Amino acid sequence: MAVSNPVGTYDLLPRQARVWERVKQLAFSTFGLYGYEPIETPLFEHTDLFVRGIGESTDVVSKEIFHVISSYNYRTLQEGGQVRSKDRFALRPEGTASVVRSVIQNDLVPQGAAPVKLMYAGPMYRAERPQQDRYREFRQIGVEFLGAAAPTADAELIIMLMRFYQAIGLPMGSVRVLINSLGDDRCRPAYREAVRAYIHEHSSEMCEDCNARADLNPLRAFDCKEEGCRKVMAQAPLITDALCDECKEHFAQVKALLDAAGVPYVEDPHLVRGLDYYTRTVFEVQVTDGMGAQNAIGGGGRYDKLVEQVGGRPTPGLGFALGFERMMHALEIGGAQVAGDAPAVCYVACADASVAAQAFDVMQALRDAGIACDGDHQGRSLKSQLKVAGRMEAPVCVVVGPDELAAGRVSVRDMRARTQETVALEHVAEAVSALLER
Ligand code: AMP
Repeated sequence: MAVSNPVGTYDLLPRQARVWERVKQLAFSTFGLYGYEPIETPLFEHTDLFVRGIGESTDVVSKEIFHVISSYNYRTLQEGGQVRSKDRFALRPEGTASVVRSVIQNDLVPQGAAPVKLMYAGPMYRAERPQQDRYREFRQIGVEFLGAAAPTADAELIIMLMRFYQAIGLPMGSVRVLINSLGDDRCRPAYREAVRAYIHEHSSEMCEDCNARADLNPLRAFDCKEEGCRKVMAQAPLITDALCDECKEHFAQVKALLDAAGVPYVEDPHLVRGLDYYTRTVFEVQVTDGMGAQNAIGGGGRYDKLVEQVGGRPTPGLGFALGFERMMHALEIGGAQVAGDAPAVCYVACADASVAAQAFDVMQALRDAGIACDGDHQGRSLKSQLKVAGRMEAPVCVVVGPDELAAGRVSVRDMRARTQETVALEHVAEAVSALLER
């Protein structure tokens, strides 16, 4: 049986691969307007980075990590041995931990320096149960903004994300931005305690997972999809009532800046997001119709403690990640499209085998002049080559024939206008460019 791709993954065939390239370009040019610079980090990191950075009690770390292992260590494990912690690696489930690791390691925000703004795009890996819009390998585009504590940074981030969605053609009426503040280490511990105690009071009405979460990470119970838990959590204490004055003020300023920028949002005091590292502002962009439970197309927030948690100096930070596949689905639902058409190509045909080598030279000369072209590599007849050119929708075709070639000329056909002229070999590139640009 032929080998197929693993479940939860998919191939980006040429059209989709071109769309992915265009989406990245558009994202990077939008984020570039805000001062973001690109960064690329490895696809795998020490497992410990994700344990420390994302949190052991999160689903992403406790259930969804893909471990990476060398053959040597694989054998060691099979033989009942131990793998040293420095040899334990994991495919990245998200981008933030890796970028923060790189910022610390390369001292990209030295003390007293201006903040750093970094953007990335690439595949992420989570061993989730695959379903519609939930993959095991999926693509994210994200940014991290390190060194800025002011609420303007939070507002700028949300505005920038919405500007990008707008630029890509997502109907703005079909999405909503949910925002919340999770407080900081002054006010959150007491709130966590209150939620923990509340879950314990209602433990008989709640699922096993939520009961287990109560001590580790009680806020996650707000994300539970079980009907009983949802009912109970709807009445749980709200973080909004527990914020300290500083967090309240920060949140109020973020909202005022969004109001002034005309970016609508919905306050959702139950929005906690799945990862442990958030403090203060969190947000999520959701599609309002047609995407069922997987309706989050992007999200992020502030993580003022993360840099320290991963071993750096105290440095405030914030960021977001958007999911490429879900965004494409949202665009499809909204009737919008990102162009994935192949660029126009000139086809170079040869009339018979006696001039195949010269046709090959013409093709190379066109490419050297910056013109995309292709030709026959199968010894096809002229008729059959022209059919291939038609199927490729080549707007221009150069036909190399022995008689014309003897006079130093070739035919250049305008396939759309169905006209043809003969052109001296040294002017072929000019003639083809003129037709391609028409
Ligand atoms: P997160 O890192 O979980 O906040 O995810 C950020 C965005 O990535 C989400 O809003 C989704 O659009 C997307 N995403 C997360 N997990 C998956 C997945 N398993 N498959 C496809 N997209 C995902």
